[in-house]
Amino acid sequence: MIGLFGSGAVGSRAGSGVGSRVLGTRRRRVPARPAPGTVLAEARGLRVRLGGREILRGVDLSARAGEVLALVGPNGAGKSTLFAALAADLTPDAGTVCLAGRPAADWSAPELALRRAVLPQSTALSFPFPVQDVVRMGRAPWAGTVREDPHDSGAEDDTAVAEALAATETTAFAHRPFSALSGGERARVALARALAQRTPLLLLDEPTAALDLRHQELVLRICRERAAAGDGVVVVLHDLGLAAAYADRVAVLHEGRVAADGPPEEVLRDELLTRVYRHPVEVFPHPRDASPVILPHRPARG
Ligand code: ADP
Ligand code: MG
Repeated sequence: MIGLFGSGAVGSRAGSGVGSRVLGTRRRRVPARPAPGTVLAEARGLRVRLGGREILRGVDLSARAGEVLALVGPNGAGKSTLFAALAADLTPDAGTVCLAGRPAADWSAPELALRRAVLPQSTALSFPFPVQDVVRMGRAPWAGTVREDPHDSGAEDDTAVAEALAATETTAFAHRPFSALSGGERARVALARALAQRTPLLLLDEPTAALDLRHQELVLRICRERAAAGDGVVVVLHDLGLAAAYADRVAVLHEGRVAADGPPEEVLRDELLTRVYRHPVEVFPHPRDASPVILPHRPARG
C-alpha cells in the first residue's frame, strides 16, 4: 500500500504521504491558493547519492503555480529521484528543497499533504479495496482542517471523489476492487486519488506510461486544466510529443543534471534529444500549426 503514498521507486521518508498520521485532532488551516507564477517547489544545488553512486549532481529546478512542467529524460537519468526530492519524500545529501516557501523538512506530513499530491511511478496495492475507497484516500489530509462550512465537509469530500473519478473516466469502476483492474485502469484510479487530494501542487511520475492514446491525452488535458485553475503541475513523461503539446516548460534530465530547461519549442531540439537519448531524433514542424513533431529516426522499410 505504501506505493500509493510514497515515491515508490526510491527510498521514501516514513509517513511522509497521506496515511493515518494526518488524522490528528488539531485543526489545520487550508492553504490559500497561490498567485500565478508563485514558486511552489524549488530545488537548489540538489545532490543525492543512492547505493554509493551520485544520482543527482547539482540540480536546480522550480515548479510554479499556473504552469505544467514536464520532466523528461532517459531511463535512469534521475527523474524519479528528483521527483521524490521535490515531493519531500527523500532527503538530499546536499542542496535545498523548498515547498510552498518553506524548507521541505520543516513541514509536518499532514501540512505537506495539503500542499502537494504525489502520484508515484509504481502503485502497488495488494488489498482488494474498492476503487472509490482508493480515491477517497486522497481526502484523508483534509480531515480535521478548518473549513468555511464545517457542516459541508462530507459533501466536499464526496464531490472531490466524484469529480476525480469522472475526470479520469473511472466512475464505471467505482465499486470494483482496485486489484481486479487492468494496469492502465489502475493508473487512472491512482491518478484520481491524487486529483481528489486537491492540492496546489500536483506531482505525477509517469502517469501516462500504461495508458492508451485517448487516456494519455486526457491526463495531459487534466494537467492543463489544473494549471489554468492556478495549480502547479510537475509531470514526468517519456512521450516527448505530449511534453511538446501540453507543457509550458520542459526540463530534460541527463545523467543526474538538468541538460535544458525552458519552453518546449526551445528545449525539444534534435541535437539535444539525439545526444541525451543516444538515438537519432528528428523534430519536424507540424504542417497545420508548425508545432514540433518529435520522432525517433527509423530505418526505411522494404
Ligand atoms: P529515472 O526515473 O530517470 O528513470 P531514477 O531516478 O529512478 O531514474 O534512478 C536514477 C538512477 O539511480 C538509476 O540508475 C537507478 O538505478 C538509481 N537508483 C534509484 N534508486 C536507487 C537506490 N535506492 N539505490 C541505488 N540506486 C538507485
Ligand atoms: Mg522514474
